[in-house]
Amino acid sequence: MRQELNSGKSIGILGGTFDPIHLGHLHILEALATRFDRIMVIPTGNPYMRTSAPVASGNDRLEMASVALDDLSSDLQEKVMVLDIEVRRDGPSYSVDTLGQLSGFFPRDKFTLILGSDAAASFDSWKRAADIKKSAGILVVSRPGDIRSAFDEIAIDALDISSTQVRAAIAQGKSLDSLLSPSVARYIQERGLYASK
Ligand code: ATP
Ligand code: MG
Repeated sequence: MRQELNSGKSIGILGGTFDPIHLGHLHILEALATRFDRIMVIPTGNPYMRTSAPVASGNDRLEMASVALDDLSSDLQEKVMVLDIEVRRDGPSYSVDTLGQLSGFFPRDKFTLILGSDAAASFDSWKRAADIKKSAGILVVSRPGDIRSAFDEIAIDALDISSTQVRAAIAQGKSLDSLLSPSVARYIQERGLYASK
Protein backbone atom coordinates (compact mmCIF):
# COMPACT_ATOMS: atom_id res chain seq x y z
CA MET A 1 0.00 0.00 0.00
CA ARG A 2 1.23 3.47 -0.79
CA GLN A 3 2.46 5.49 2.16
CA GLU A 4 -0.18 8.08 1.50
CA LEU A 5 -2.97 5.57 1.96
CA ASN A 6 -1.28 3.82 4.82
CA SER A 7 -0.77 6.71 7.19
CA GLY A 8 -3.52 8.24 9.28
CA LYS A 9 -4.92 11.53 8.13
CA SER A 10 -6.06 14.38 10.26
CA ILE A 11 -9.72 15.06 9.60
CA GLY A 12 -11.75 18.02 10.83
CA ILE A 13 -15.50 17.59 11.19
CA LEU A 14 -17.76 20.61 10.93
CA GLY A 15 -21.27 19.53 11.88
CA GLY A 16 -24.33 21.73 12.07
CA THR A 17 -27.87 22.30 10.94
CA PHE A 18 -26.66 24.52 8.06
CA ASP A 19 -30.16 25.98 7.65
CA PRO A 20 -28.69 27.52 5.48
CA ILE A 21 -24.86 27.25 5.28
CA HIS A 22 -23.53 30.84 5.34
CA LEU A 23 -20.29 32.81 4.91
CA GLY A 24 -19.51 32.40 8.62
CA HIS A 25 -19.34 28.63 8.11
CA LEU A 26 -17.22 28.99 4.95
CA HIS A 27 -14.88 31.32 6.82
CA ILE A 28 -14.24 28.52 9.36
CA LEU A 29 -13.19 26.21 6.51
CA GLU A 30 -10.84 28.83 5.08
CA ALA A 31 -9.34 29.67 8.46
CA LEU A 32 -8.70 26.06 9.50
CA ALA A 33 -7.79 24.49 6.15
CA THR A 34 -4.06 24.27 6.84
CA ARG A 35 -4.63 22.37 10.10
CA PHE A 36 -6.26 19.36 8.45
CA ASP A 37 -5.71 16.95 5.58
CA ARG A 38 -9.44 16.89 5.04
CA ILE A 39 -12.52 18.63 6.43
CA MET A 40 -15.90 16.94 6.41
CA VAL A 41 -18.99 19.12 6.51
CA ILE A 42 -21.85 17.07 7.96
CA PRO A 43 -25.38 18.49 8.04
CA THR A 44 -27.49 17.00 10.84
CA GLY A 45 -30.53 14.90 10.14
CA ASN A 46 -32.66 15.50 13.17
CA PRO A 47 -30.79 17.90 15.49
CA TYR A 48 -31.94 16.64 18.91
CA MET A 49 -30.51 19.62 20.83
CA ARG A 50 -32.91 22.00 19.13
CA THR A 51 -36.39 22.93 20.27
CA SER A 52 -37.71 23.32 16.71
CA ALA A 53 -37.11 21.32 13.54
CA PRO A 54 -34.95 22.80 10.77
CA VAL A 55 -36.84 24.98 8.29
CA ALA A 56 -35.32 23.47 5.12
CA SER A 57 -35.37 19.72 4.45
CA GLY A 58 -32.34 17.54 5.02
CA ASN A 59 -31.90 17.22 1.26
CA ASP A 60 -31.96 20.98 0.71
CA ARG A 61 -29.52 21.58 3.59
CA LEU A 62 -27.20 18.93 2.11
CA GLU A 63 -27.51 20.37 -1.38
CA MET A 64 -26.82 23.94 -0.16
CA ALA A 65 -23.68 22.70 1.62
CA SER A 66 -22.56 20.97 -1.59
CA VAL A 67 -23.14 23.97 -3.86
CA ALA A 68 -21.39 26.23 -1.31
CA LEU A 69 -18.18 24.31 -2.03
CA ASP A 70 -18.33 25.55 -5.64
CA ASP A 71 -17.64 29.04 -4.30
CA LEU A 72 -14.46 28.01 -2.46
CA SER A 73 -10.93 28.19 -3.89
CA SER A 74 -9.89 25.09 -5.81
CA ASP A 75 -7.32 24.20 -3.12
CA LEU A 76 -10.04 24.21 -0.51
CA GLN A 77 -12.44 22.30 -2.74
CA GLU A 78 -9.95 19.46 -2.84
CA LYS A 79 -9.86 19.30 0.93
CA VAL A 80 -13.50 19.76 1.89
CA MET A 81 -16.29 17.25 1.37
CA VAL A 82 -19.95 17.17 2.36
CA LEU A 83 -21.24 13.95 3.92
CA ASP A 84 -24.84 12.81 3.99
CA ILE A 85 -24.43 10.23 6.77
CA GLU A 86 -26.49 12.11 9.36
CA VAL A 87 -29.27 13.19 7.00
CA ARG A 88 -29.58 9.57 5.80
CA ARG A 89 -29.62 8.07 9.29
CA ASP A 90 -32.96 7.56 11.02
CA GLY A 91 -33.60 9.08 14.42
CA PRO A 92 -31.74 11.87 16.18
CA SER A 93 -28.24 12.77 14.92
CA TYR A 94 -25.77 12.00 17.65
CA SER A 95 -22.13 12.95 17.06
CA VAL A 96 -20.99 9.88 18.96
CA ASP A 97 -22.73 7.67 16.36
CA THR A 98 -21.25 9.67 13.49
CA LEU A 99 -17.76 9.37 14.93
CA GLY A 100 -18.27 5.63 15.43
CA GLN A 101 -19.33 5.25 11.79
CA LEU A 102 -16.44 7.36 10.49
CA SER A 103 -13.77 5.60 12.50
CA GLY A 104 -15.18 2.33 11.18
CA PHE A 105 -14.65 3.59 7.62
CA PHE A 106 -11.31 5.26 8.34
CA PRO A 107 -9.72 3.40 11.27
CA ARG A 108 -6.29 5.02 10.96
CA ASP A 109 -7.45 8.62 10.78
CA LYS A 110 -7.62 11.12 13.61
CA PHE A 111 -10.84 13.09 13.91
CA THR A 112 -11.33 16.53 15.40
CA LEU A 113 -14.73 18.10 15.98
CA ILE A 114 -14.79 21.77 15.06
CA LEU A 115 -17.25 23.73 17.18
CA GLY A 116 -18.25 27.36 17.57
CA SER A 117 -18.34 28.74 21.12
CA ASP A 118 -22.10 28.30 21.44
CA ALA A 119 -22.04 24.65 20.37
CA ALA A 120 -19.03 24.02 22.63
CA ALA A 121 -20.81 25.62 25.59
CA SER A 122 -23.48 22.90 25.48
CA PHE A 123 -21.06 20.09 24.68
CA ASP A 124 -21.25 18.42 28.11
CA SER A 125 -24.95 17.73 27.59
CA TRP A 126 -24.33 15.90 24.30
CA LYS A 127 -24.98 12.17 24.25
CA ARG A 128 -21.90 10.32 25.59
CA ALA A 129 -19.83 13.50 25.63
CA ALA A 130 -17.04 11.76 27.57
CA ASP A 131 -16.75 9.05 24.89
CA ILE A 132 -16.65 11.70 22.16
CA LYS A 133 -13.73 13.38 23.94
CA LYS A 134 -11.90 10.06 24.11
CA SER A 135 -12.30 9.27 20.43
CA ALA A 136 -11.87 12.74 18.90
CA GLY A 137 -10.12 16.04 19.41
CA ILE A 138 -12.21 19.16 19.99
CA LEU A 139 -11.29 22.46 18.37
CA VAL A 140 -13.35 25.46 19.37
CA VAL A 141 -13.47 28.69 17.40
CA SER A 142 -14.63 31.86 19.11
CA ARG A 143 -17.83 33.20 17.71
CA PRO A 144 -18.90 36.83 18.06
CA GLY A 145 -21.35 37.26 20.93
CA ASP A 146 -21.42 36.69 24.65
CA ILE A 147 -21.23 32.94 24.80
CA ARG A 148 -17.88 31.45 25.82
CA SER A 149 -17.24 27.76 26.41
CA ALA A 150 -15.10 26.00 28.97
CA PHE A 151 -12.71 24.96 26.18
CA ASP A 152 -9.68 26.85 24.97
CA GLU A 153 -10.92 28.82 21.99
CA ILE A 154 -9.00 29.99 18.97
CA ALA A 155 -9.67 33.33 17.32
CA ILE A 156 -10.28 33.10 13.57
CA ASP A 157 -11.82 36.53 13.01
CA ALA A 158 -15.15 34.75 12.84
CA LEU A 159 -17.91 36.54 11.01
CA ASP A 160 -20.93 37.80 12.92
CA ILE A 161 -23.46 35.80 10.92
CA SER A 162 -25.99 33.14 11.97
CA SER A 163 -28.43 31.09 9.94
CA THR A 164 -31.24 32.57 12.03
CA GLN A 165 -30.17 36.04 10.91
CA VAL A 166 -29.89 34.84 7.29
CA ARG A 167 -33.42 33.35 7.31
CA ALA A 168 -34.80 36.64 8.62
CA ALA A 169 -32.90 38.64 5.97
CA ILE A 170 -34.30 36.40 3.21
CA ALA A 171 -37.88 36.74 4.42
CA GLN A 172 -37.45 40.52 4.57
CA GLY A 173 -35.99 40.65 1.06
CA LYS A 174 -32.71 42.17 2.27
CA SER A 175 -29.45 41.87 0.36
CA LEU A 176 -27.71 38.57 1.01
CA ASP A 177 -24.33 39.49 -0.48
CA SER A 178 -22.57 39.75 2.87
CA LEU A 179 -24.27 36.65 4.31
CA LEU A 180 -24.33 33.90 1.67
CA SER A 181 -22.02 32.69 -1.06
CA PRO A 182 -23.47 33.19 -4.58
CA SER A 183 -24.32 29.54 -5.31
CA VAL A 184 -26.24 29.18 -2.06
CA ALA A 185 -28.12 32.43 -2.61
CA ARG A 186 -29.06 31.23 -6.11
CA TYR A 187 -30.20 27.82 -4.83
CA ILE A 188 -32.46 29.45 -2.22
CA GLN A 189 -33.87 31.91 -4.72
CA GLU A 190 -34.61 29.27 -7.36
CA ARG A 191 -36.51 27.09 -4.92
CA GLY A 192 -38.17 29.88 -2.95
CA LEU A 193 -36.71 28.55 0.32
CA TYR A 194 -37.22 30.52 3.54
CA ALA A 195 -40.05 32.48 1.92
CA SER A 196 -37.66 34.14 -0.54
CA LYS A 197 -39.30 36.07 -3.37
P1 ATP B 1 -28.69 28.93 13.76
O1 ATP B 1 -28.84 30.41 13.90
O2 ATP B 1 -29.81 28.30 12.98
O3 ATP B 1 -28.37 28.22 15.06
P2 ATP B 1 -25.89 28.88 13.07
O4 ATP B 1 -25.44 30.07 12.30
O5 ATP B 1 -25.57 28.84 14.53
O6 ATP B 1 -27.43 28.68 12.80
P3 ATP B 1 -25.30 26.10 12.87
O7 ATP B 1 -25.62 25.24 11.73
O8 ATP B 1 -26.11 26.02 14.11
O9 ATP B 1 -25.32 27.62 12.34
O10 ATP B 1 -23.75 26.02 13.25
C1 ATP B 1 -22.92 24.92 12.95
C2 ATP B 1 -21.58 25.12 13.64
O11 ATP B 1 -20.94 26.29 13.15
C3 ATP B 1 -21.70 25.33 15.17
O12 ATP B 1 -20.57 24.71 15.78
C4 ATP B 1 -21.64 26.84 15.31
O13 ATP B 1 -21.15 27.24 16.57
C5 ATP B 1 -20.67 27.20 14.20
N1 ATP B 1 -20.90 28.54 13.65
C6 ATP B 1 -22.02 28.99 13.05
N2 ATP B 1 -21.87 30.23 12.61
C7 ATP B 1 -20.62 30.63 12.95
C8 ATP B 1 -19.88 31.83 12.77
N3 ATP B 1 -20.40 32.91 12.19
N4 ATP B 1 -18.61 31.87 13.23
C9 ATP B 1 -18.07 30.80 13.86
N5 ATP B 1 -18.72 29.62 14.05
C10 ATP B 1 -19.99 29.53 13.61
MG1 MG C 1 -26.49 27.52 15.83
